[in-house]
Amino acid sequence: MPIHTAVLKKEVLEYLNPKQNENFVDCTVGEGGHSEDILNKTGPDGKVLGIDLDPQQIISSHWLEAIYKDRTILVNDSYANLKEIISNKNFQPVNGILLDLGMSSAQLEGTHKGFSFQIDQGLDMRYNDVTGYLTAEKIVNEWPEEKIEEILREYGEEKFSRKIAKNIIEQRKQGRIKTTFGLIEIIKDATPSTYWRGKIHYATRTFQALRIAVNDELENLKKVLPQAISALSPEGRLVVISFHSLEDRIVKNFLSEESKKGTIKILTKKPITANRDELGKNQRARSAKLRAAIKI
Ligand code: SAH
Repeated sequence: MPIHTAVLKKEVLEYLNPKQNENFVDCTVGEGGHSEDILNKTGPDGKVLGIDLDPQQIISSHWLEAIYKDRTILVNDSYANLKEIISNKNFQPVNGILLDLGMSSAQLEGTHKGFSFQIDQGLDMRYNDVTGYLTAEKIVNEWPEEKIEEILREYGEEKFSRKIAKNIIEQRKQGRIKTTFGLIEIIKDATPSTYWRGKIHYATRTFQALRIAVNDELENLKKVLPQAISALSPEGRLVVISFHSLEDRIVKNFLSEESKKGTIKILTKKPITANRDELGKNQRARSAKLRAAIKI
């Protein structure tokens, strides 16, 4: 059973509005929290196609198959290949598509991937382990200072991006930076002590920036959105939950363009955020923003 607490559960159901025998694609199935809610509403024959890039997360969602036998299809792939996945699985009609972006609590706490600044691990940060792909270790040891500074500033919104980038370059002259704790020391050295006592850990923004860069998260989001609209059946719904202002901007601009073209109707004028009750219980909900649209 999931470690991860799915965010905005009630709101996801409200906007996806799953009904008896309808089919949904959960592009980020994770540990199956949202998929379970959908499957509960779409019996006896409605199906969920659950996608996740992290093979470990696909294993964590297998419990869905045990409960909702022929109604769950799980695929370990990137949602950037949504169109192809849907066509390979001959999955139609598509009554709704969900994207719950970013990373899950289980990935943060439990894996060997170096997502967390609480555990000393190798600087990997890939959702999948396909060799040859970019890793966080590669970025900090091989990228030029300007590029590192730029991702820290843009993807991390890190106000000490220049100092941190400079310190990374200095330190890597002494030897390769290989571990999360090694990198955290470098960030600590580059920032004032007042920053260490802030509300969020002083390494949070750097780690977020590296994760987004390693996994090309913004590009993948730009790739999936048009595929999602085109895959939806008329009246089908798209729900996207983002956790970062850059992601939210991409979603917002995309939906407004599509709405001008007349392909969709936007259901959320402003993004939906978690209510006070959820905010108190779930840290991840704090930055969550949900936008939804219906295909015309
Ligand atoms: N809604 C899920 C949690 C999703 S967390 C639940 O209720 O459990 C976000 C998930 O997106 C993670 O499991 C992560 O591995 C996955 N992910 C990140 N990038 C992806 C991509 N490009 N394609 C598919 N899945 C991706």
